Amino acid sequence: MARVDLAGFNVDADLLRELAASHPEPVELTPETVSAAYARISRDSRPVGELRRISRKEVEKARASNERIVFGLGHASVAEHAVFNFDVLEVSRLAIEALEAHRLASYTEKSQRYVRLGEDYAIPEEVQAKGLGDAFTEFVSRSFSRYALLVARLMASGVPDKLAGEDARYALPLAVHGQLGMTCNARSLEHLVLRLNSSPLAEVRDLARSFLAVAKPVAPSLLRYMTPGPYHLLREADVAEVVRDLLGPPAAPTPLEGPTDLPPTGVRLVNATADGDARILAALALPTLGTDYLSALAAIRALDDDGRARLYAAVTARLGVHDTLPREFELASMTFEMVVSAAAFGQQKRHRMSSLTTWPYDAALGVTIPPAIAEAGLSDILLEGAAEAEAMAQRLGGPADPVAAYALLNAHRRRCLWTLNLREFYHVSRLREDEHAQWDIRHLTSAMADLVRGAFPICSGHLGGKDSFAARTAPAG
Ligand SMILES: Cc1cc2nc3c(=O)[nH]c(=O)nc-3n(C[C@H](O)[C@H](O)[C@H](O)COP(=O)(O)OP(=O)(O)OC[C@H]3O[C@@H](n4cnc5c(N)ncnc54)[C@H](O)[C@@H]3O)c2cc1C
Repeated sequence: MARVDLAGFNVDADLLRELAASHPEPVELTPETVSAAYARISRDSRPVGELRRISRKEVEKARASNERIVFGLGHASVAEHAVFNFDVLEVSRLAIEALEAHRLASYTEKSQRYVRLGEDYAIPEEVQAKGLGDAFTEFVSRSFSRYALLVARLMASGVPDKLAGEDARYALPLAVHGQLGMTCNARSLEHLVLRLNSSPLAEVRDLARSFLAVAKPVAPSLLRYMTPGPYHLLREADVAEVVRDLLGPPAAPTPLEGPTDLPPTGVRLVNATADGDARILAALALPTLGTDYLSALAAIRALDDDGRARLYAAVTARLGVHDTLPREFELASMTFEMVVSAAAFGQQKRHRMSSLTTWPYDAALGVTIPPAIAEAGLSDILLEGAAEAEAMAQRLGGPADPVAAYALLNAHRRRCLWTLNLREFYHVSRLREDEHAQWDIRHLTSAMADLVRGAFPICSGHLGGKDSFAARTAPAG
């Protein structure tokens, strides 16, 4: 029978320090020995438990071995066996976005939906350096006053307490602090620190230093190449120069009430796998047909719509609300162009099994006003905050300066492309079209789902939130 031994698991660092302090001999606590032992598995026939014991006894040798294998030979996945947990505190929403852009990590973040926010925010060092610290502080303080006013007025108009806070936060800027728990392995951490180090924002570069300050002492052999080179620092400017040269200067920004270049839903489908339904169904039929893939595709294409629908019905007949669609659904993918509020983006970015290509927040794309705020006649309060935020952002350098985004609000918007396959979109749809989802991302996801139904009419048959699953799958009649 196969044997599995527990070789390690994450334990609270405070407890580890207490245990080490009470240990009779000095003990070095490091995840590196697990990586070093696993690195030897490929060339050493001794049982892996013994390899771990050897690594534990000779930590310096384990470190030298990691450096040779991970960095010398490029066997980098070995570094993935060392895993860290980090408490990340006093970090702005804007810096959290830079952090959570990294997909190979786990995050759990304080929700601005569920937690009533106190006046806790970053005053970026670039803002101080421009001599605008006091003006920025006054601006953020007024934003918190507007937040409190919106909460009170929304509640007075009958909006429940939780929803009032959830919508009032559209008046808060991206400088507001959050906190999160984060888990990632040493390989991901090295990449993440490199990328954070290339940020134009001092706060984000500080975050990189903070990660290293706590992780490097416990895993020095696994964290090495984290200094950005010219490729990381200058690539965007190089591209911009050639684009200007080839295609002329950027279009003059036109102030918009909303994303008028997109449909009113704020989203359009810019690319979808041609004949995605047939491609998925062909892969599902292939093992039974016993042919190659292209022959299976030709056979599925030759079927009429009823035949294809019957095949899809067989795939999904026993599907439960928590089940994922089979991997064949990854054969159809799509790219959406969208203009989203910072509040919606904060949720969208958490879907790691997808590709998000983003552009900076841009006041010219207008603001998103929560329907409850509009219905309660409170839009002016939010619009006053947006105007003040835009004036502050202008003083901070305007759209050309990344620091300006600290002043923009959760209501402000950015443009992005979101590329994902149909299997992942099912997951997004289950979570984000559900009754528990926040209204902004729910509207966005429903609009996306309509577009997906147009692109893949058969295989999109079970899209929808968890709450509507039973109704969708109930037998007719
Ligand atoms: C109603 C609601 C409330 C929420 N509230 C909060 C909140 O308060 N705070 C907060 O931080 N987040 C919150 N979230 C976000 C939520 O925790 C998820 O981060 C988000 O929904 C993305 O889902 P996902 O991780 O399943 O998706 P993806 O990242 O796209 O992953 C897709 C699937 O891949 C697998 N997967 C991906 N990465 C891993 C991994 N590292 N390990 C194992 N499996 C993996 C899982 O099966 C996952 O479902 C909330 C979400 C919803 C819908």
